[in-house]
Amino acid sequence: MTGNLKDRPTDTAPKGWVKILGLGPGDETMVTAQVQEVIAEATDVVGYIPYVKRIPERPGLTLHATDNRVEVERATHALEMAAQGKRVAVVSSGDPGVFAMASAVFEALELADQPNWLELDIQVLPGITAMLAASARIGAPMGHDFAAINLSDNLKPWSLIEKRLRLAGEAGFAMGFYNPRSKSRPHQFARALEILREACGGETLISFARDVSKPGETITTVTLNEATEEMADMRTVVIVGNKDTRRIGPHVYTPRYARDEG
Ligand code: SAH
Repeated sequence: MTGNLKDRPTDTAPKGWVKILGLGPGDETMVTAQVQEVIAEATDVVGYIPYVKRIPERPGLTLHATDNRVEVERATHALEMAAQGKRVAVVSSGDPGVFAMASAVFEALELADQPNWLELDIQVLPGITAMLAASARIGAPMGHDFAAINLSDNLKPWSLIEKRLRLAGEAGFAMGFYNPRSKSRPHQFARALEILREACGGETLISFARDVSKPGETITTVTLNEATEEMADMRTVVIVGNKDTRRIGPHVYTPRYARDEG
């Protein structure tokens, strides 16, 4: 190695990074090769406990598993470690940009107000999101225009969720619902179904996809009139078609065309 000695400390200073990645819906064959490479290069993994559990332990790798409700703290910790030269993988399930850690990292970056953190190498690596993994199992219910809506009111008022459901239904979007129903809010999903029946019509198809790509996966398709709130829980992603969504044999699909019904 040649070069000015004075330059050495910067040349050899460990180069930290934060890579925010998605582990897909569950099955290991649905983790991208790019994500596997990043996990192999990381010194630290940060994320919600069940997602960090999916990362195999190895010497030189520190796992930091935290509870789900502290996303911005977790993200700040990741940025701090990267500033110290560590190679930090922030893990989410599915895709990190869909109701997950990618936005939390950028929120943390903004809140921290640390100008030197803006120079950090921060990258987002995509994964297969639950809605699209479920759609693929069902057929092609998202074959035309669609909206993805988080039904949890942790970070937004329920009134806004109702408005978005109604308007998306009236506009003829197919829809994918994340976090549809939890123990802390067992009855809001029944209200969501009521709004959807009004906005989309009771004969519209709705699919409940639970534990997609995991052992015990179940997929059930019924009409909105037949749907009940118990059909959904936090391990379910719910897919609602539009007026043209139909069955063909065991498959459900939405055609690529639509009429303007005014
Ligand atoms: N970033 C994730 C979503 C996190 S929100 C993604 O892109 O998929 C968590 C919600 O995702 C769950 O409540 C559920 O609605 C859905 N979900 C995640 N994995 C799932 C799976 N394997 N099967 C069905 N739904 C899943």
